[in-house]
Amino acid sequence: MEGIDKTKVYFVGAGPGDPELITLKGYNLLKQADVVIYAGSLINHDLLNYCKAGAECHDSAYLNLEQILSLMEEGVRSNKLVVRLQTGDLALYGSVREQGEELAKRGIGFRCVAGVSSFLGAAAELGAEYTVPEVSQSLIITRMAGRTPTPELESLERFAQHQTSMAIFLSVQGISEVAERLVAGGYPLDTPVSVVYKATWPDCQILKGTLEDIAQQVEDAGIYKTALILVGRFLGDEYHYSKLYDAEFSHEYR
Ligand code: SAH
Repeated sequence: MEGIDKTKVYFVGAGPGDPELITLKGYNLLKQADVVIYAGSLINHDLLNYCKAGAECHDSAYLNLEQILSLMEEGVRSNKLVVRLQTGDLALYGSVREQGEELAKRGIGFRCVAGVSSFLGAAAELGAEYTVPEVSQSLIITRMAGRTPTPELESLERFAQHQTSMAIFLSVQGISEVAERLVAGGYPLDTPVSVVYKATWPDCQILKGTLEDIAQQVEDAGIYKTALILVGRFLGDEYHYSKLYDAEFSHEYR
């Protein structure tokens, strides 16, 4: 691993839950960190067992942005290695940018270490591929509008027109509305849906149904957070072998 630059804050993707799904790079940083600010409501606290004795660990669930920044600044100014540990990968709903910009105002830079996003952890739990030859070759990652609005061109109805694979974050609490809007937008009622709660955690739960019955299943299971809604025929039975391992196909792309 290249040298660690303690003048910067390291944002590290913690992975979806299983402590073995952090990258080696993330693990090495966590092991050496002096200050760790972790997103306590989503990351697996067992990850903190990788930290050295005496590392200061702060749960950001109890902190506002200003307090998080103060901890980061204090750490960097005292020549400590500061790690900001966030769930999944940083590039999806990670709020890295606002933290980074505020750090920049204080003259502090940052580095990012990629993580395994929960939509990948969820697919692994299912043993499924979002891209299935001749069924779906695209994945839409989105969320339903909540306190954070979504742009009009990105409404669930509009995305549903594509009838491609979808991974919907931050929305399981509104599953009835999600299902209704996807149907209004064009997905047939019998489109397969899977809700994956706490993918890669020991208490992971997987619900399988269709746009017609998934809301009832979610309600019965009492799931209202830390879940992904996966939608599309990639979850169904239709399937075509890929040309990749076809005997006639050039080896160059395998
Ligand atoms: N950056 C994260 C997403 C943060 S937004 C990532 O890459 O995964 C938080 C949302 O992510 C949750 O509301 C839920 O929809 C999803 N999520 C995070 N961890 C999850 C997990 N282990 N299983 C299922 N969904 C998860």
